[in-house]
Amino acid sequence: MENCIFCKIAEGDIPTDFLYESEHVLAFRDIQPIAPVHVLIIPKKHIASVNDVEQGDQNVMGELFVAARTVAKKLQITEDGYKLLIRTGVHGGQEVPHIHMHVIGGAQLTENIHPI
Ligand code: 5GP
Ligand code: ZN
Repeated sequence: MENCIFCKIAEGDIPTDFLYESEHVLAFRDIQPIAPVHVLIIPKKHIASVNDVEQGDQNVMGELFVAARTVAKKLQITEDGYKLLIRTGVHGGQEVPHIHMHVIGGAQLTENIHPI
């Protein structure tokens, strides 16, 4: 989709080091990490948010989790654990309207999901 930063990353228009790539998904480091490990996993195809996931996207969505566990293993946080986060819409705090799963770890994390 035009003007979508993550589509541009997926299409190679913005040079990016990928930590993982499969048929349908890509993983790369967050530009503003909030923890020692902070990786984003995106589908190559533009899906704006969880609200836009359709029948037929099951494989793509499943690959996000396979990517997450593969990245976790590669970055050696499997044993200590990590957090997976998918923000959705305004209340969820989603800033980039191309669905993405955060993999956050490398340190003990706070809960920090309370309403304002
Ligand atoms: P959201 O708030 O939508 O869940 O998360 C968006 C995330 O994307 C933020 O953590 C932000 O730092 C990250 N981000 C925004 N633009 C870019 C970019 O151009 N490259 C990378 N690697 N991360 C980005
Ligand atoms: Zn997109």
